[in-house]
Amino acid sequence: MFTQEIEKFIRTKSYPKFSPKAVFFDMDGVLFDSMKHHATAWVKALHNKNLPFTEYEAYMNEGRTGASTIDEIFIKEHGRTATEEEKNDIYQLKSSLFEACGKTEQIPFVYDLLKKVKAEGLQIFVVTGSGQRTLLHSLEENFPGIFSKDKMVTAFDVKYGKPHPEPYLIALKKSGVQPWEAIVIENAPLGVESAHAAGLFTIGVNTGPLKPSALINSGASMVFNDMKELHANWDNIVSSK
Ligand code: MG
Repeated sequence: MFTQEIEKFIRTKSYPKFSPKAVFFDMDGVLFDSMKHHATAWVKALHNKNLPFTEYEAYMNEGRTGASTIDEIFIKEHGRTATEEEKNDIYQLKSSLFEACGKTEQIPFVYDLLKKVKAEGLQIFVVTGSGQRTLLHSLEENFPGIFSKDKMVTAFDVKYGKPHPEPYLIALKKSGVQPWEAIVIENAPLGVESAHAAGLFTIGVNTGPLKPSALINSGASMVFNDMKELHANWDNIVSSK
């Protein structure tokens, strides 16, 4: 059913085949319905420091580490990067505002997809720009039996972060699979850009307010409107190889 997209991927990259052995999941907007809270927290924290920022920009910048997001805004507003002190100050405020938004829910149908992928014997990684200290705990609490500490790439593992290919290249190395043996699931343009630059087959799931074209233009091989749709089509994708 998805033979065309997969053939195009193999041909463009000159890979010998497409044979999924690992699935790399982004976290915010893919596992958790947390992006609306992140967007609110970023806007409030930056406005508090007299820095202009909109929720739409928060979605467009999704995937960057906190430090990199703050640098981007400082370069635009002040023509320089932020100092470590400024970064810590803003990021702490943003984190506390995010926590004040309350508990984040799972993206509907993602646990079903995770269980399906696990049952198929594929490795499951989380690849996120997030630097929450309690990340593994919250993953285990929400998705029991799916994730493990050695199968995570977070803000603590990277120097550049998304949209640089680095986080997905680290995931490839940690998983020991070839680039034609991995599937990435992303909801954000910069996340798709990162995975695409790492040479991986990337599925966009448009869980936010952006146009699907934002994900296609960043390099997604296919885009679904929600996780329910991806879950329903999953078997067709992995069996199209
Ligand atoms: Mg995301």
